[in-house]
Parts: sequence; structure tokens; C-alpha cells
Amino acid sequence: MKKKDLILASGILLLAGLLALGLYLRKPENGNLLKITVDGEVYGTYALSKNQTIPIETSHGTNQLVIKNGKAHMEEADCPDGYCKKQGSIQKVNETIVCLPHKLVAEVESDSTLPDSEEDAPDVIVK
Ligand SMILES: [Zn+2]
Repeated sequence: MKKKDLILASGILLLAGLLALGLYLRKPENGNLLKITVDGEVYGTYALSKNQTIPIETSHGTNQLVIKNGKAHMEEADCPDGYCKKQGSIQKVNETIVCLPHKLVAEVESDSTLPDSEEDAPDVIVK
């Protein structure tokens, strides 16, 4: 291998590395906020770093969302289809749990201003 080829090869490697890093950074990241909307209106925003149970009572019905270990899932719901309870846990930015009969959407968001540790995180974030 000539010296020029070596420089070229390392240049390509570096480029590939940067590209991989770029892809890695664009990968969906874990969120730290859970925004709950009912009827398109914000019902509340909750810290994902805090284990908590969120009762959501609206004129459509009752849901109970549980945040545990940085993930959120629908624990209880009195909607007729119960589909929201089958949607599993969400933790990545833009992941959602939808309860159609109750017009409820829970969406994971990321707020870089929020502290990571559980002690510092407030239960409810008022915006
Ligand atoms: Zn439901």
C-alpha cells in the first residue's frame, strides 16, 4: 500500500465513522416526559424518571397510566375496547399510547432542561 492510499483509506474510515455516529445520534432516544392529551387538550405532563400512577378521569371515562422504570403503560381503562392496555410500554421519543374511545393520547417527549435524577424531578411539570 502506498502512503497516499493509506491516507485515503483512513479518510474513508473516518467518514464512515462520522456517518455511523450521525445515524446513531438520530436514532430515537429515550424520552423523559410523558404528555397526556384528552380531546386534543393537554391534560398533564409527567416526568418519566419518576415512578408514579396517573389517574386520568375525564367525561369520556377513566384511565390509569403507570410510569415505571422510565417507561409508561396503560394499567387500567374502562373503555369498551381495552385496546390501550394492549399497546405495551412506551419510552422512546414520539412513541404513543392511544385510547380512542376516551380520545386520550399519551406521548413521550424529551426535555433537555429536565433533571435526570428521580430526586430532582417534579411529579408534574407545569408549562
Ligand atoms: Zn382505552
